[in-house]
Amino acid sequence: MAQPLILDAHLDLSMNALEWNRDLRWTVAEIRESERGMTDRPDRGNGTVSFDAMRRGRVGICAATQIARFVRRDSPIPGWHSQEQAWAQTQGQLAWYLAMEEAGEMVQIADAAALERHLEHWEDASGNGHEAHAPIGYVLSLEGADSIVTLHHLERAYRQGLRAVGPAHYGPGVYAQGTNATGGIGDKGRALLREMERLNIILDATHLCDESFWECLDAFRGPVWASHNNCRALVFHGRQFSDEQLEALIDRDAVVGVAFDAWMLVPDWVRGSSTPQNRGVTLAQVADHIDHICQVAGDALHAGIGSDLDGAFGTEQGPADVDTIADLQNVPALLAARGYSSQDIEHVCSGNFLRFLRKAWN
Ligand SMILES: [Zn+2]
Repeated sequence: MAQPLILDAHLDLSMNALEWNRDLRWTVAEIRESERGMTDRPDRGNGTVSFDAMRRGRVGICAATQIARFVRRDSPIPGWHSQEQAWAQTQGQLAWYLAMEEAGEMVQIADAAALERHLEHWEDASGNGHEAHAPIGYVLSLEGADSIVTLHHLERAYRQGLRAVGPAHYGPGVYAQGTNATGGIGDKGRALLREMERLNIILDATHLCDESFWECLDAFRGPVWASHNNCRALVFHGRQFSDEQLEALIDRDAVVGVAFDAWMLVPDWVRGSSTPQNRGVTLAQVADHIDHICQVAGDALHAGIGSDLDGAFGTEQGPADVDTIADLQNVPALLAARGYSSQDIEHVCSGNFLRFLRKAWN
């Protein structure tokens, strides 16, 4: 089977560039080498993502994030102490994406015409053996909406290309409550969702705590996806979706991207002592989560990939058989071994999210 195009629905590329100081034009090996001896973050020297590795893995399109959290003064969770600081951080991240466009490394995809243009260009480039130089397409998305100071900022962000928003991340948020927090979305959350609906911004249901999840789905009538979210039936934790949540998303014609963070792939991961090797975490568990979503859906039209492979972890907390993001190309064979047709596999690798975007932007 020819290597399928992969759409990765969740990468934190600009966060890696600006907070980890990673020049993603370097190879993964070069980035690792540059971090030798650094101990400021657990994933130093273990990164798996670079533009070169994405191209080798045919990850020709992704949803790439802006991300900045607001926290109160006494919060145990790290973050900015004002929404304005968070806004400025996300504007810096946008500046990096634009610089990568100027450098010919990336191209923003914000409407249906740009999507078709990019897919054509990517296919042409790979057909001519020039894939090594093709720009990677990105849909700009916001992980946690705290940086949206006012609804006018959301409209400004939309004009900058923002096309998907996850209202919350970890902990309590300005507009909704995220992973490990509790509670609903309140008037501010409802107002944000109304403005997202008016602008036709995709709701990313990822990271919403249960109460906020159900309130968001109730309040929002626009397109919904979950960029990087696994299954509670396999790993019991609020960060994962229950079958009931998966069913509600599938009813809305959502696509759920399966994430590769080891603690979300196997139960009872203990940070610091569990390793991918001693817990036997491999792409097989990624396939388990994909398969679970497909079993709940009754088809292969609602599962996708949202690897999160550069989401503040690296090889120390990813599948043992993933050295770089290029290894996403080993997912197709695993699905084939479980009886998935080549058409199903193409759907999971990119077709489902592409169908979703075409529908959202028609
Ligand atoms: Zn996340």
